[in-house]
Amino acid sequence: MSAVWHYFKRTTSESPTATCKVCGVEVSRGGANRVSYNTTNLIKHLKKHHPDEHAAYCKATASATDGLHQQTLRDSLKRKDLLPRDSERFRKITELIVECIAGDDQPISLVENSGFCRLINYLEPRYGMPSRHYIVEKGIPALHTLA
Ligand SMILES: [Zn+2]
Repeated sequence: MSAVWHYFKRTTSESPTATCKVCGVEVSRGGANRVSYNTTNLIKHLKKHHPDEHAAYCKATASATDGLHQQTLRDSLKRKDLLPRDSERFRKITELIVECIAGDDQPISLVENSGFCRLINYLEPRYGMPSRHYIVEKGIPALHTLA
């Protein structure tokens, strides 16, 4: 339910109008029947007649959206749960991929090969495939350092 209802009341959910709790005026809910009701008129009423309440409403709406956004962000981070790039396992897998490219004369674009990415992802879902750039800048020089 929209936070705007903090400032309005309805006689019933079917009512074509809502009463402003601040000034007591009846405001149209924007339609002739329930399907076309919306809160736009109510928000407009707040904005026009009660700037303070409108500001508070906007703040409440914004923080609700922020909360949702943070939740989504947390979920996606949790879902990924990738190996840190400085972890032993990430380095070992990267090293083997680099060996595969450098030693077996595979193109660097191997890391963008969807079949190859699927294979790695199946074997180690926490491994985030590095970019070609990473392989060239970090992977290959690291291999030479080892050799
Ligand atoms: Zn009012």
